[in-house]
Amino acid sequence: MSAAQIMGLVASGQATSRADLSRLLGWAPSTVSSHVQELLDAGLLEESGEGRSRGGRRPRLLSVRAGDGVLLGADLGGHHARIAVMDRSGRPETAQDLDIDVTAGPEPILGQISEALLSLSAGRPVLGMGIGLPGPVDLSGVVVGSSRMLGWNGFSVRRWLAGRFEAPLVVDNDANLMAMGEAVVRGPSMRDFVFVKAGTGLGAALVNDGRLHRGARGIAGDVSHNPVPAGGDRACNCGNFGCLETIASGAALVAAVRAEGVDVTTTADLVRLAGDGDPTVNTTVRFAGRQLGEVLVTIVNFFNPQAVILSGALATCDLFVAAARGALYERCLPLTTQALQIGESVAGPDAGLLGIGRLLIDQGLAAPARNP
Ligand SMILES: [Zn+2]
Repeated sequence: MSAAQIMGLVASGQATSRADLSRLLGWAPSTVSSHVQELLDAGLLEESGEGRSRGGRRPRLLSVRAGDGVLLGADLGGHHARIAVMDRSGRPETAQDLDIDVTAGPEPILGQISEALLSLSAGRPVLGMGIGLPGPVDLSGVVVGSSRMLGWNGFSVRRWLAGRFEAPLVVDNDANLMAMGEAVVRGPSMRDFVFVKAGTGLGAALVNDGRLHRGARGIAGDVSHNPVPAGGDRACNCGNFGCLETIASGAALVAAVRAEGVDVTTTADLVRLAGDGDPTVNTTVRFAGRQLGEVLVTIVNFFNPQAVILSGALATCDLFVAAARGALYERCLPLTTQALQIGESVAGPDAGLLGIGRLLIDQGLAAPARNP
């Protein structure tokens, strides 16, 4: 059950009453009523008059209560961060892109991001703060075992933020947050899906019955270090050999085609060349998509999701996606693929920020809003 789903539906105008919420969410009226009451008590929703009766008592109309408070969010990549001030329903009001170098280490980067966010929020009260990181984050908000975020391992991002912001906090891996953003945009009917971020690196997340599946330590969903037979003895930056990441990540693809004499430096260049029909690039990209698909076969058979949703630069590459799709349709149990949707993310560049908004609202944003 999700308070954020209620806030999202009311904020977007899709639901104006408890009856609308019950119908859209498929929850019992009593369950909707008790969640709505919590949000009313917390000062996040308000009742504003009465709607039209469809027989019986006229329903009281619900709306998001106006207020000064805002949510702050930052979605970090290796060289780039998207930051935003969001309203109480978790929707970005003002967003901004920053150039960063995540290898500068946690304190300078978190300082830069916090200053930019506080300036963007223009002194309004902060009701919640969230940050997405391009590496594994455990349940206590500590960066663990990241090969891309040099200098961050063992650093408690949550503790650092708690020293700056007296508000509920979210600290999570970027793929997890993007998956939650996807859930926000797709709405309550999308409850079970595998989300794959296929850019320069690979990441994935699992949404189960509308909630993130985090696992015992918080790092569930990582597919990038699955061994694949074609990986052979290729050294991976995790210290192991033959991981999927060494074949199907954008970085691995760029390295592979460069070794064949193709002049590319970024994943975006590579996707462009694949679109132009470069034969070396096409063969390499198709092979990589197939490898990703074969790893996803195990996950789809085991988890039986409604959808596999692909995001990141490689998700815009038709050859890569078609090869992954081909592996899934050929190798999954027919019962799991009969109704399986495989497609590109629809959440856009704010996916991670929308995910932060949802998790902040769900984890009890209500508390500080009681005394605005
Ligand atoms: Zn690895």
